[in-house]
Amino acid sequence: MSLISKLPAQGTSIFTIMTHLAEEHNAINLAQGFPGFPCDPHLTDLAAHYIKEGNNQYAPSIGIPVLRKRISQMAELMHGVFYKPETEITITSGATEALYVAITAVVKTGDEVIIMEPAYDAYGPSVRLNGGVPVYVPLDENDFSIDWDRLEGVINEKTTLIIVNTPHNPSGYVWKKDDVDHLAKIISDKPIFVISDEVYEHIVFDKKEHYSLMRNPILRDKTFICSSFGKTLHVTGWKIGYCLAPEKMSKEFRKIHQYIAFSTATPLQYAIAAYLDDDSKYLELSAFYQKKRDIFCEGLKAYTPFKFTPAEGSFFQTVSYRHLSTENDFDLAVRLTKKAKVACIPNTAFYKDKSDLKVLRFCFAKDEAELELAISRLSYAVF
Ligand code: PMP
Ligand code: GLN
Repeated sequence: MSLISKLPAQGTSIFTIMTHLAEEHNAINLAQGFPGFPCDPHLTDLAAHYIKEGNNQYAPSIGIPVLRKRISQMAELMHGVFYKPETEITITSGATEALYVAITAVVKTGDEVIIMEPAYDAYGPSVRLNGGVPVYVPLDENDFSIDWDRLEGVINEKTTLIIVNTPHNPSGYVWKKDDVDHLAKIISDKPIFVISDEVYEHIVFDKKEHYSLMRNPILRDKTFICSSFGKTLHVTGWKIGYCLAPEKMSKEFRKIHQYIAFSTATPLQYAIAAYLDDDSKYLELSAFYQKKRDIFCEGLKAYTPFKFTPAEGSFFQTVSYRHLSTENDFDLAVRLTKKAKVACIPNTAFYKDKSDLKVLRFCFAKDEAELELAISRLSYAVF
């Protein structure tokens, strides 16, 4: 019996491919985005404590109250916007689940969903699994800013959702207040929802601020803000995410969440809630990562021929090699992994039609010594 694929064009994720290749060739893995250092031992102590204390049965489907309250306080502290923990905040199994559930809540067969490219790889497949049609709009090739004319040009009566990601993976672009207000203006009178993927919300550089879409009152009423503690607390393997959305939207979101995951790891929710008693845990994250970005970028500039603009946020740095070679980006990423022993992600992975602009993405969420070793290896690479 043959199973008809719902995602016929989809292969194994580039993150899995490059991580396997890095392991096979004993390369430094600057490909898949995850911290190469442990999280705070206080956080693991708390997790062990809550496990040993016996918090090992199902959490409430919407998440434990104390964690929802913490998230509400965090949003208020960061953005001055209040979300009701009882009705507007839901804990999910990572941002991946939050995104999938929000997409499922909105998208019906034939609906069009605008995705800006390059884009994180989960959006398109999640839209298609729900019968939706992703409509891709390219970001500016040089600085990854939004091409508003093109975006407005594709909006029509079938458009039901726009997916935003700020700070942006892979480019690091951070939405400015003007961007947020512009989006609000063009959809204010239209029945279009927004999903804002803000998983790198606490990682922004050079004193820039993360301007969440929740800050715009028009968008607050239309947007599912999806995020995750994976990046913020250096625990990508814990898969504890969350969604903030107005009550009516959260109601639909919660209906679907209860049949996709129902709930997520109870002791980890308690551990995170207790850990976040101290706001500095996330308030200091930008400075922590800025040091790494600066070390990595200074090394790239001094010892490699890549061209780049330092990322504004996230823990990724993209670099261009268009002036150096015509080799396709996947082949180059594989060659660098095998020969230079440094793995990265070819940027074509973030484009539906695999547009090859000769760009590579490196993750700098690593110890400084590892970043320096990676730079020294890259300095010997032949292009
Ligand atoms: N969105 C973006 C932009 C990401 O980079 C990632 C990767 N971590 C996710 C969503 C998924 O987050 P999580 O691991 O919490 O599911
Ligand atoms: N978000 C991570 C990245 O962009 C990887 C997540 C995953 O492996 N699916 O590299």
